[in-house]
Amino acid sequence: MSSTSSVVLNTGVSMPLVGFGTYKLCGSEEVYIAVDAALQAGYRAFDTAAVYGNEAELGRALRDLLPKHGLTREDIFITSKLGPKDQGEGAMEAALHSVSELGMDYIDLYLIHWPGTQGVAVGNPCNQGNRAGSWAALEELHAQGKLRAIGVSNYTPAHMKTLLQSCRTPPALLQTEFHPRLCQTELRRACEEQGVCFQAYSSLGKGELVKHPVVMEVAKGCERTPAQVLLRWAVQQGVPVLPKSSNPTRIRENTALFDFSLDAGAVERLTALDDGHNYCRDPSEVA
Ligand code: NAP
Repeated sequence: MSSTSSVVLNTGVSMPLVGFGTYKLCGSEEVYIAVDAALQAGYRAFDTAAVYGNEAELGRALRDLLPKHGLTREDIFITSKLGPKDQGEGAMEAALHSVSELGMDYIDLYLIHWPGTQGVAVGNPCNQGNRAGSWAALEELHAQGKLRAIGVSNYTPAHMKTLLQSCRTPPALLQTEFHPRLCQTELRRACEEQGVCFQAYSSLGKGELVKHPVVMEVAKGCERTPAQVLLRWAVQQGVPVLPKSSNPTRIRENTALFDFSLDAGAVERLTALDDGHNYCRDPSEVA
C-alpha cells in the first residue's frame, strides 16, 4: 500500500485506510489462513467484535504470525466492539474481557457496536441511558490506556449529536454501513464537522453489490474488478474501508487500490446509485 493509505484520528494516531474485516471468519484454521494472507498482502488493521466470537482466534493468529512477517504489536491496529448485551453496567468488564481474549495489553480502537441494548425494545428510552453508561466506561478505560481510542458504530445523526453534547472524550471514529447505495450524506457531514473519522463497513454490500450492473460496467471501463471499484470509490473520498474475505486471492485483490483512480464520471455514476438501501440492519429506529 502507498503512503497515502492512512488517516489520522483525533487522538493523533494513524489508522490504515484499508483494514481487514473479520465478521463470519470462524474457527482457528480459517482465521489463521486469512490473517496470514492479509498480513502478506499488507493489511495492518484488523476489525473484530465480541459478537463475532473470533477475538481469541484473531489474537492467537496475530501473536503467532507477526514475527513471521517481521512485525510487532505496534505495527498493527486492532479494533474491537462492545456487544449489545453488555451496554451500560456491563461495559467495563466486557471491554476488559475483549482485551484479554485478544491476548494483548491494549486495543487500538474500541467501539460501541450498536446504539441499542439487547433485550430492550428499539423505541425504549432506556437505550439512551445505557449508551451514556457505556461511553463513561470507555472514557475511563481510554484514560487508563487500555483502549487507545474509543468510538461508536451504527450511530445515526441523532445519536451522534447527543453523544457529542455530553461526552468528556469525543469519539475518534464512527463505523457505519457505507457504499454507493447508502451514501449517508448527513452523517458524513456531521462527522467531518466534528473531527470524527467516518469509516465504512460492508463496502461490497456483503458481496451483493459486486454484481450490480453499473458497478460491473465501471469496473470493465477501468480494467479493475467490481470489488476494487467499490473500495476505491470510498478511499478516494478519504473514507476508510474494512473488506472481509476468507479467500487469499480476494484478500490481495481488495488491497490493490492505490495504483488507479476513478474519474469524475465514474464516481458520479456510482454515487447516483444511492437509494438508501441497507444490506445490514438499519439503526434509525433505536431511541
Ligand atoms: P463486505 O466486506 O461488504 O463483503 C464480504 C463478502 O464479500 C463476503 O461474502 C466475501 O466472500 C465477499 N467478497 C470479498 N471480497 C470479494 C471480492 N474481491 N470479489 C467478490 N466478492 C468478495 O461485508 P461485511 O463482512 O459485512 O463487512 C466487512 C467488515 O466490516 C466485517 O467483516 C466487519 O469487520 C465489519 N462490519 C461491521 C459492522 C458493524 O455493525 N460495525 C457490520 C458489518 C460489518 P469471501 O469471504 O468468500 O471472499
